[in-house]
Amino acid sequence: MTDPKTESLAFDLPNGKHLYLLTQESATGPRIAKEVNALLEWLGVPTGFSVHLWWRNDPRRIEANEWPGKRTVNGGWAIPGQPNIYIYRSEEYDRVLLHETIHAMEWDWQMPESPLPCWGLGTDATVQPALFEAWTELYAEWLWCGWHNQSWDQQRDWQDYQAIQILARAPPRWAENTNIFAYYILKAALAPHIAFLWVFGNGITQKERTRVLCELVEPELIRLRTEAAVAEPEALSMRMTKNEGL
Ligand SMILES: [Zn+2]
Repeated sequence: MTDPKTESLAFDLPNGKHLYLLTQESATGPRIAKEVNALLEWLGVPTGFSVHLWWRNDPRRIEANEWPGKRTVNGGWAIPGQPNIYIYRSEEYDRVLLHETIHAMEWDWQMPESPLPCWGLGTDATVQPALFEAWTELYAEWLWCGWHNQSWDQQRDWQDYQAIQILARAPPRWAENTNIFAYYILKAALAPHIAFLWVFGNGITQKERTRVLCELVEPELIRLRTEAAVAEPEALSMRMTKNEGL
């Protein structure tokens, strides 16, 4: 028996938008194109915006003794300010679409490029510099809950659960090859303060930003690490949105 053929489909969407879809399930193409168009219209992307989507079934999942990496975390990319986004999994593709569109539209917020000492990672940690991903991902998940009318409280529980599970299996010296700390830990530490952060934005000065990021994040990290110290690592889905009845 051979695998179904992968087809390349192109959809012209209203207002000059495009969807380029690689899929083995071509019958679902029109439904996906409709969803993509609705999301892009909601976000207000400019004419000519393109989505490149590889409809590939590769769920993000790690075993109880496994440390996450690119293969089990990432789902797409975009270049800030450029009207193209790329998504390479079908799992929670709409959350990735929201995340990458935030980058493409340059809606990212500023963040230091190395962890603040108050975050307690120690001086020998290897951390990816794109810490701004924490806010981008928090923003994407907040939009995703709004789009699907999903409970933000449930999403918060999921964020904390994943953060605690990852901290529970973290080696003494933190080392990552993708933004694990930003996507899962720093995001969960920022999340309880989303209402304040919306008002604060980037603040005015670097000093002010650093102070806010310490005073908000440090107590949350202590809370998460305290729970992780007594948590048993379990097999874990790394998908970032809680899949409840979708
Ligand atoms: Zn990103």
